Amino acid sequence: MLILDCPYCGIACDETELSPGGEAHLTRFGPGSSEDEFEGYLFMRENPRGVHFERWRHAHGCGKWFHAARDTMTMEVFGTYPAQTTEPPAELRKTISEKRPGWSWRDFS
Ligand SMILES: [Zn+2]
Repeated sequence: MLILDCPYCGIACDETELSPGGEAHLTRFGPGSSEDEFEGYLFMRENPRGVHFERWRHAHGCGKWFHAARDTMTMEVFGTYPAQTTEPPAELRKTISEKRPGWSWRDFS
């Protein structure tokens, strides 16, 4: 079972208390963007085997959105942080790099 710490409440939530929101840190494209950019924003998602950043909502708690970093193969959770960020906190990226040598933020794009 997936257990994530809500960065707002500070409690450990199991997945029945949470609602998934898909990939985190998407770049939004709207009016004025090209068709390829808009199509990519709507449909193209990363599906990594390893470190992944996701959006979650504490639906049966405070109701707030947050981000989580976890390994999709081992289900290891590296950390959670508020959703009002454009990229993962440096401290979290450092933690992930120590546990997964060779990994770097957005090296897959
Ligand atoms: Zn919460």
